Amino acid sequence: MVSTEFALRIKPLDDNMVALLFLDMTLQRNLENVRRDFVANVSHELRSPLTSLSGFIETMINGDVTDDAMKLRFLKIMDEESKRMTRLIDDLLSLSRVEVYEHIIPENEVSLLATINAVRDTLVGKAEARNMQIIVRDNRLDKAKPARILGSYDELTEVFVNLVENAVKYGFEGSHIVIELTEPMPGQLQIDVINQGEGIAKQHLSRITERFYRVDKARSRQIGGTGLGLAIVKHILNRHRGSMDVASVPGESTIFTVTLPLI
Ligand code: ADP
Repeated sequence: MVSTEFALRIKPLDDNMVALLFLDMTLQRNLENVRRDFVANVSHELRSPLTSLSGFIETMINGDVTDDAMKLRFLKIMDEESKRMTRLIDDLLSLSRVEVYEHIIPENEVSLLATINAVRDTLVGKAEARNMQIIVRDNRLDKAKPARILGSYDELTEVFVNLVENAVKYGFEGSHIVIELTEPMPGQLQIDVINQGEGIAKQHLSRITERFYRVDKARSRQIGGTGLGLAIVKHILNRHRGSMDVASVPGESTIFTVTLPLI
């Protein structure tokens, strides 16, 4: 059942007239709930590495760790926890930046093929560490035509770094990732990021671009995820008048499909 809540306000117009305003409070309350959940999530996500860090620091200050190998192990965990906090803060800053500027369309000419090749070069090391390959396929009918769109190079890079990094993180070890460019209709560029992996069950598909939504929280954390990547991607694509779809066959494969308007 959809329930709507109204508030009545009296607004003086001049000495003799007042306006009765019915304000729809439902939206206001929903926004308030979203904001409260977000703050609670951020606090929780920052508190857990901090708790772990302070626990290890205290143990070391107390002189309870005498063995050098153990000391090194503790320091490595502390290093990982502080990197986790840095990643989270970087993602929060990215998210707030793209949210603030969402209505402004960036106006540089960006070659999508060059952007995607650069993303592949950046992530090739991470893929190789999992014995994976990243293959870029330009399947447009006219390959000589430049795949240019109006946008921000840095933000579009962020979109494909997030998608390809996820494909590496959640893909099967030793599998291939394919990034395929097509032009499904004149003036539209489609980029599919395809990976073989555990995939995403149907009930999660509509929620994965929500901030902090993760199918398997423990697993995502363990492999360095913040749960903010796809939320950032969604905002950047909105700003570029683009869209994103996801399709997945659990236990087999996942395809993230990005569509952007060509110049
Ligand atoms: P995270 O930092 O956790 O990776 P994202 O916002 O990038 O956060 O992704 C949200 C969730 O969507 C992930 O935690 C994961 O459960 C799921 N996901 C994203 N990409 C893939 C993929 N290629 N294959 C399977 N699951 C994925």
